[in-house]
Amino acid sequence: MAEVVRNKQVIFKDYVNGYPTVSDMVVTSDATILLELPEDDGGLILVENLYFSCDPYMRNRMTKAMEGSYIDSFTHGSVPYSGYGVPRILDSSHPNFKKEDLVWGLVNWEEYGLIKDTSSIIKIQHTDVPLFYYRGILILIDFCNALGMPGMTAHVGFHKICSPKKGETMFVSSASGAVGQLAGQFAKLFGCYVVGSVGSQEKVDLLKNKFGFDEAFNYKKEQDLNIALNKYFPNGDIYFENVGGKMLDEVLRNMRLNGCIVVCGMISQYNLAQPESIHKLFLLVMKRIRMEGFIVFDHYHEYPKFIEMILPLIHEGNITYVEDITEGLENAPAALIGLNSGIYVGKQVVAIAH
Ligand code: NAP
Repeated sequence: MAEVVRNKQVIFKDYVNGYPTVSDMVVTSDATILLELPEDDGGLILVENLYFSCDPYMRNRMTKAMEGSYIDSFTHGSVPYSGYGVPRILDSSHPNFKKEDLVWGLVNWEEYGLIKDTSSIIKIQHTDVPLFYYRGILILIDFCNALGMPGMTAHVGFHKICSPKKGETMFVSSASGAVGQLAGQFAKLFGCYVVGSVGSQEKVDLLKNKFGFDEAFNYKKEQDLNIALNKYFPNGDIYFENVGGKMLDEVLRNMRLNGCIVVCGMISQYNLAQPESIHKLFLLVMKRIRMEGFIVFDHYHEYPKFIEMILPLIHEGNITYVEDITEGLENAPAALIGLNSGIYVGKQVVAIAH
C-alpha cells in the first residue's frame, strides 16, 4: 500500500518591490503526495529533493516583469519556487531514469515532487565528484549537454569574455561568492594577479588563504573605494563585475587604457526600487575600455569543454570551493534572503533532510 505523506513546500506569496523578506514566502505542509507512481503515468518521475541552490537571479524572478529579462518571473500564490537542485529518484517510469539515480536540474522548492519535463534535468554521471559540486560547479541542463551557473559562469566570464593575458591584473567584486571564488581561482591558475573585494574580514582571509588571491579588501570598511582601488588595483587590466553601483564607478577611475570590464551581475542593484546612476561612464570612451555583459545560458554548448577542464582541476586539488549549507526546507526562505546581507560565506545551499 503506497504511503501518502505531507509535502513541505515553499510558496512565493507576491511580487516584491525593494528588499525581499522571509515573509514574502511561506513554508506549508498543506499538500500531500503519494510516494508511488500511478499505473500508466506516461513517463513521470517521483523525486525526493536533497539540495537546493540559492542564486541571486532568483531575486529578479520575484519582480513581476523585469525589463529586458531573459527569464520568466515566478508565479505568485500557490506554486512553489523553482530553482536548481539535486533530487534523488524514488520511482520512475521514464526509460532514461531509474530509482536511486541522482539528477540535477530545475525543481520546485518542496520535499517531494513529480517531474514531467525531463528536459530540465540530467542524470549525475561524475559521482566521484562530491555531490555538492553539482549545485555549484557542475550544473547541468539537458538539450546541449549544457552546464550552467556558478562554475560555468566564472569560466565563460573569465576565459571567454575577458580575453585575459598572463600577468594581467584582475579585480573581482563579491569575490568569495559562488561565481567570484571560481573566477578568481581561474585567473590565478591562468597567471593573473588577482584582487578581490568582499564584505567581511573572514571573507578577506578566505580569499587570501584558501583561494590564493594576491590581495583582498573589505569594501564595507573602506572609507573611500577609489583610494582602496588605487592601492590594490591601480591601472588595472580586467574587472570581473558582480556588484554594480558605486563600485563600478570607482573601478572605472582605476582601469587602464584599453582595459576590459566583464559584466557578470550587479547584485547591489537587485533590491533597489530605483537603480543607482553610474556617473563615470564617459571614462569608457576616454580610456577605450571594453565593457561586455553575458548570460551563462547562451554558453551551455561549451559544457563538454568546461567539464574537460574542471574535473582534473578538482581532482588535483587545484580548484577549491566553499559552500554555506542551511539545513531544512523551513529555513530556505532565510537562506535565499541571506544572499543580500552577505551573512553566508561562499555558495549558499539548502539541504533537505529526509
Ligand atoms: P554571490 O556572490 O554568492 O551573492 C551573495 C553575495 O553577494 C553575498 O554574500 C554578499 O557578499 C554579496 N552582496 C550582496 N549584496 C551586496 C551589495 N549590495 N553590494 C556588494 N555585495 C553584495 O552570488 P553568485 O551566485 O556568485 O553571483 C554573483 C553575481 O553574478 C551576481 O550578480 C549574479 O546575479 C551574477 N550571475 C550572473 C550570471 C550570468 O549568467 N551573467 C550567472 C550567475 C550569477 P559580501 O559579504 O562580499 O558583500
